[in-house]
Amino acid sequence: MKSSLNSWEQSSKAVLENVNSKEVGLSEADAKLRLETNGPNILSQAKKQSHIVKFLKQFADIMILILLVAGIVSIVFKEYVDGAIILAIVVINAIIGFFQEYKAEKSLENLKKLTTSQAKVLRDGEVKKINCSDIVVGDIVILEAGDIVPADIRLIETAMLKCDESSLTGESEPTLKNPDAISKKNCGLADRTNMAYSSSVVVYGRGVGVVVATGMDTEIGKIANILKETEKNATPLQKSLKTVGKMITVIVLIVAVVIFLIEFLKNPNSSLLDAFMTAVAVAVAAIPESLPTVVTIIMAMGVGKLAKRGAIIKKLHAVETLGCCEIICSDKTGTITKNQMTVKKLSYNQKTFDEINIERSKEFEMLQNIFVLCNDSVSSKKKFLGDPTETALCDYAFGLGFNKQKLDEQNPRIFEIPFDSKRKIMSCVCDRNGKTTMYSKGGVDEILNICSHALIDGQVVQLNDNIKQQILEINNQFTNVALRVLAGAYKPCFGFDDHEEENMIYVGLAGMIDPPRDEVEVAVKKCGEAGMRAVMITGDHKSTALSIAKSVGIATKSSEVLTGAQIDMMSDEVFLEKLKKVSVFARVSPENKVRIVEGFKKLGKVVAMTGDGVNDAPSLKKANIGVGMGITGTDVTKEVADMILTDDSFSTIVIAVEEGRKVYTNIQKTVGFLFTTNVCEVLAMLICIIAFPEMTFLLPVQILFINFISDSFPAIALGVEPAEKDIMQTPPRDAKKSLFSGGNGIKIIVMALIQAGLVVCAFIIGKHFGGNMVASSMAFYTLNLIQALYILCARTNSSIFKTNLFQNKWLLGAVGFNILMTLILIFTPLGKILGLVSLSWDRWLIVIGLASLIIVFDEIYKLIRKSIRKSDN
Ligand code: ATP
Repeated sequence: MKSSLNSWEQSSKAVLENVNSKEVGLSEADAKLRLETNGPNILSQAKKQSHIVKFLKQFADIMILILLVAGIVSIVFKEYVDGAIILAIVVINAIIGFFQEYKAEKSLENLKKLTTSQAKVLRDGEVKKINCSDIVVGDIVILEAGDIVPADIRLIETAMLKCDESSLTGESEPTLKNPDAISKKNCGLADRTNMAYSSSVVVYGRGVGVVVATGMDTEIGKIANILKETEKNATPLQKSLKTVGKMITVIVLIVAVVIFLIEFLKNPNSSLLDAFMTAVAVAVAAIPESLPTVVTIIMAMGVGKLAKRGAIIKKLHAVETLGCCEIICSDKTGTITKNQMTVKKLSYNQKTFDEINIERSKEFEMLQNIFVLCNDSVSSKKKFLGDPTETALCDYAFGLGFNKQKLDEQNPRIFEIPFDSKRKIMSCVCDRNGKTTMYSKGGVDEILNICSHALIDGQVVQLNDNIKQQILEINNQFTNVALRVLAGAYKPCFGFDDHEEENMIYVGLAGMIDPPRDEVEVAVKKCGEAGMRAVMITGDHKSTALSIAKSVGIATKSSEVLTGAQIDMMSDEVFLEKLKKVSVFARVSPENKVRIVEGFKKLGKVVAMTGDGVNDAPSLKKANIGVGMGITGTDVTKEVADMILTDDSFSTIVIAVEEGRKVYTNIQKTVGFLFTTNVCEVLAMLICIIAFPEMTFLLPVQILFINFISDSFPAIALGVEPAEKDIMQTPPRDAKKSLFSGGNGIKIIVMALIQAGLVVCAFIIGKHFGGNMVASSMAFYTLNLIQALYILCARTNSSIFKTNLFQNKWLLGAVGFNILMTLILIFTPLGKILGLVSLSWDRWLIVIGLASLIIVFDEIYKLIRKSIRKSDN
């Protein structure tokens, strides 16, 4: 029968009974049934906007509103065809906008699914990693430092378990947990020390507990009944483009009103509708309406591509920042190396041994006991699971006949001080038939610091300087050949409460190899060519770090290495000076990592920083691009990261930088193309309005056709343009510079002037040949063809004759579509509906000739720009 007491008021055993579970966990079948009955362990999201609302939102745009008004006015003035076309374009635009937004949202949602967090549970007596949403009441969950607690849990067993519950209680100090029942009445959330609540963070230690509430039944679920929809995080680039767009819109609207007045006053005989339509045409021509959508789509496509290449972008701004990245600070273990540790050397009894040629002695037996007992690996199907450093020790010992499971049973653990990267030591106290012993393993210096004796030739002797020196020498031999070294020590305890890590007896060392990842050397070289610096940060020994750094090309000499202890002693000025040269940081603490990021930022650098452990979160937050590890990373680091590497590899960061640079360049090209077109249209229109006030230049529907068919689609296709060949041979872009710097703004104006000149020429020649209709038609077709040709020029910074035109199939498709639509205008009545007349072949030759000149001008411009750049260098 269910007890009326709360979970924290009862013993863990009683709670287990209440939820019909056992310490070995639920069976898979039972868990499945419970999941079906009670639903998944998720917090219900705020209601999403319905499709209809999303569709209607497409009309909430100044440009669309202007067009709507124009359409309605046309119909009121009985210009039914114009009105219908304008309204049709508005609706088509809304449909396209809706689908593009839908697709971009879907792809970002799919990415979110890739980062769903997982939890370790016991099912059918085995440790399994499952999605947090599949956790059910009764599941036995294993908690470790860095985990985000996946449900409300009654703890059964804890080892220095500390949870940060600030999101629930507001208390910033982590709470130390223990499994004892609490009898206090009215016990508040913060006082329930035997509970771990969903969404709090395990900052230290380990624990095991049984799930008592999931999903909306958890304490956080009760608070967050309606979770706010995650805010749309527009990137700085998107924001600044939005501002530019708004500014242009306001200016254009003022210009349009002025034009309306001029037109009307100059030509009071012409109808109000004509003056209004000219003003609308200017507005349509000048407002870069597709810009925000196009940029969002290019970003979303870039993010999708990155996911396929192993980098999941969590915060969209990272796509932009990646292109400016100058320093990549990377962890060594698992990112630069394979994180596949193997014991290669041992040292005990003042001698060294290769892993197979060992000497079985009392010291050897004790060393293996330390490494196996003071070890959190769990055996599963003849394999050890856990931290690779620890599983390597278990694997090695197992091969020599030390069975962890058996040893654990004979020596039950009664106390432990977990490993953390700051202390670099792990200790535990085990009980063997009433006799308690403390076992410690960790970094050599750290272990020697807590030892007063050593075990040599079966005797416990005083650890004098001489012996210490010998140990450090052996340590040097190991680290010089890139081995990670762990030392082991023990001491018989005085009773059950003797937990101090002091006066221990040193036993020996184990040296482990963790080979560099094959692809890293090439990636480091690429970094150098791309003007970036690869920096290695590790908790390992200086020599181990340098050996690995040398093998992958990050450093060449020991003056390029700095240790955490050295950093601690340095003033800010000295440290910043050192940062300019040092590429390897060894024996660092999480605080050192933060100082390194801050230092590089003070030097004005854009920094990417990787991290996996719970203590890495602050440095990831500080970095311009926080990079979390998909495989070895803790929930906390994944949560704060801007980007997650699914394969943990350093080379994926370099790939991401390349993709980031490409996305930015493509956005720059697209923005350049769209602005050039808009400025050209407005210029041509203004020139014609002023020079030929009695004539109509282009109708709003004609400009709409050009903007949607010749500009928007090709502009999106420009977004999937492959990278320029030298994209990773140029230095990173300056983060402070805008899209229009470096000559890009000037290019927009120059090319727009040239294009406008060509279109006006076509208009004047057309006027000469026939009336207004011929002039308009020639100007329309010239402008249209210019766009089709100019997009081919805009896709590359070098000559179009040097690039493969067929590389971007989407772009060719978009240009092909434009040509097809133009042919439809020429050969079907649609042309007439748009106010166009058919042209004779000689007029077509003029149109084609004038439009083709844009390629010549573009080539000349590129040549001049290239020679200016050369002379600048
Ligand atoms: P990297 O930065 O290269 O990814 P790290 O910073 O994660 O490595 P740590 O795991 O903090 O490095 O290890 C630092 C040192 O602590 C190691 O050199 C080793 O001596 C010791 N050490 C590592 N793992 C353990 C462990 N599980 N138990 C005890 N000591 C350990």
